[in-house]
Amino acid sequence: MSRANSVVNITEKKICCGCGACSVICPVSCIDFTYGKRFNYPKVDSEKCIDCGKCLKVCPSEFLLHGTDPEFSKQTEIEDLKSYLLYSPDDDIRLDSSSGGFITGLILHLMEKGQIDGAIIAKSQGDTPWIAKSVLATTRQELLDSRASKYAPVSNCTALKDVLEKPGRYAFVGTPCMCEGLKKLQDVNPVLKERVVLSVGFVCAGMASRQSTLAFLERYDVDLEEVYKISYRGDGWPGNFRVFNKQGEVILKKPLLGCSLDLVVPGDHYLRCNNCLDHWSNYADIVVSDPWKDDMVDNEMKGWSGIMIRSQSGQEAVDSAIASGDMIANEVSSEEMYNYNKHLIITADHKRHSWMALYQLLFFWRFKGMSAVFRSFLKWQGPGLLTTLRSRFDRNYYENTDPRKKLLKANTGATEHLRLRSEAAHKK
Ligand SMILES: Cc1cc2nc3c(=O)[nH]c(=O)nc-3n(C[C@H](O)[C@H](O)[C@H](O)COP(=O)(O)OP(=O)(O)OC[C@H]3O[C@@H](n4cnc5c(N)ncnc54)[C@H](O)[C@@H]3O)c2cc1C
Ligand code: SF4
Ligand code: SF4
Ligand code: SF4
Repeated sequence: MSRANSVVNITEKKICCGCGACSVICPVSCIDFTYGKRFNYPKVDSEKCIDCGKCLKVCPSEFLLHGTDPEFSKQTEIEDLKSYLLYSPDDDIRLDSSSGGFITGLILHLMEKGQIDGAIIAKSQGDTPWIAKSVLATTRQELLDSRASKYAPVSNCTALKDVLEKPGRYAFVGTPCMCEGLKKLQDVNPVLKERVVLSVGFVCAGMASRQSTLAFLERYDVDLEEVYKISYRGDGWPGNFRVFNKQGEVILKKPLLGCSLDLVVPGDHYLRCNNCLDHWSNYADIVVSDPWKDDMVDNEMKGWSGIMIRSQSGQEAVDSAIASGDMIANEVSSEEMYNYNKHLIITADHKRHSWMALYQLLFFWRFKGMSAVFRSFLKWQGPGLLTTLRSRFDRNYYENTDPRKKLLKANTGATEHLRLRSEAAHKK
């Protein structure tokens, strides 16, 4: 059976971001979602596949098969959207969250008000916590256990299967590509449209490979047998990377700044992240970021979340949390909000277009856009282009652990100056 219309096209071209949307829609359940050594990705059983094309229709990476859309960047230019800096006043929520505890605080507020029954979130706890699990959480404890960003592969759309089986109203948390996968699934599945009533997306620079986390643990001689929970953030702001054993004892603690932010977060991402046009969750009801204001680095110990509202349901949810005192908020301008992550707005002259042109050349033998590649070389962006080339020709891309081995030798310290500023604030 031909598989020309399935997501095999996406994985073969290494443009999958592991969102999980395809595995929810397959009518003959022939997509086995795989948690590889490096990335999560779907494997299609070609014997069972009927080549219906449904998986490809909901795939947020599908656009890369057809070339790039120069019009898309226009959607990410500044619009008149309401934006806030805010935090949860409950320190039990805020201190172990990524930034201000907005996401966890908002979901708990909506659950307590009976507006939702739970939310799809990601959890790094259990027997293999380096494989973050996508969970439909329905209790306060599950939500508290799952706080903070996982800088590792997560596939939250896979948990939409549980939503299909469990009547109720739910929120969805995910990266921009997961939110796009959700939106496409909702367009073809009325049950998901009815049951998922709110989507909360991140500002997302990229999703690091699982190997980044494992190499970090190896660097500090952590025994994997002992690891029960991994917290990439939390412990105040900007926070620490912590590893816990089953008894809840901390067996590794390293600062985010000057250490885990330099080693775990950047570098070895899905190749798809180099081709991402939506780092700002255009398809979510609310987009959340960690604002990293200069004065926060100097003074802040608990953290704030920065949000931008994209829909009426998003506005109603946030208004309700603010009105009941479950969220403390200052309204700011959208320009200010965009400025905290300005580098992630993909404008028409962004260097991203050079990676994309290279993709088009390598995968499809299309020469369109090559001027962007030459411009990139002139601006010394060679290493990024080389990564694209290397990954393209890596036969074992989703499983290969070699690219991250060099991390063991890498030095920390790129954000050391920020750590010193923040530590001075904590000592005051
Ligand atoms: C991969 C990634 C990259 C990011 N890049 C940036 C960036 O470049 N700039 C920026 O300003 N902010 C970025 N963020 C967002 C930032 O790290 C915080 O998530 C945000 O500030 C929200 O903090 P909070 O305290 O409100 O969230 P919390 O209250 O801590 O809640 C976070 C929620 O997200 C869920 N979650 C965590 N990780 C994932 C994941 N990988 N996929 C799906 N769900 C998850 C958790 O289970 C939890 O429910 C990124 C987040 C992620 C996951
Ligand atoms: S049967 Fe349809 S949805 Fe399932 S893998 Fe094949 S093409 Fe995709
Ligand atoms: S990007 Fe998402 S929908 Fe597309 S193939 Fe990968 S997991 Fe499936
Ligand atoms: S950078 Fe883009 S493709 Fe990569 S995880 Fe984030 S939203 Fe998805």
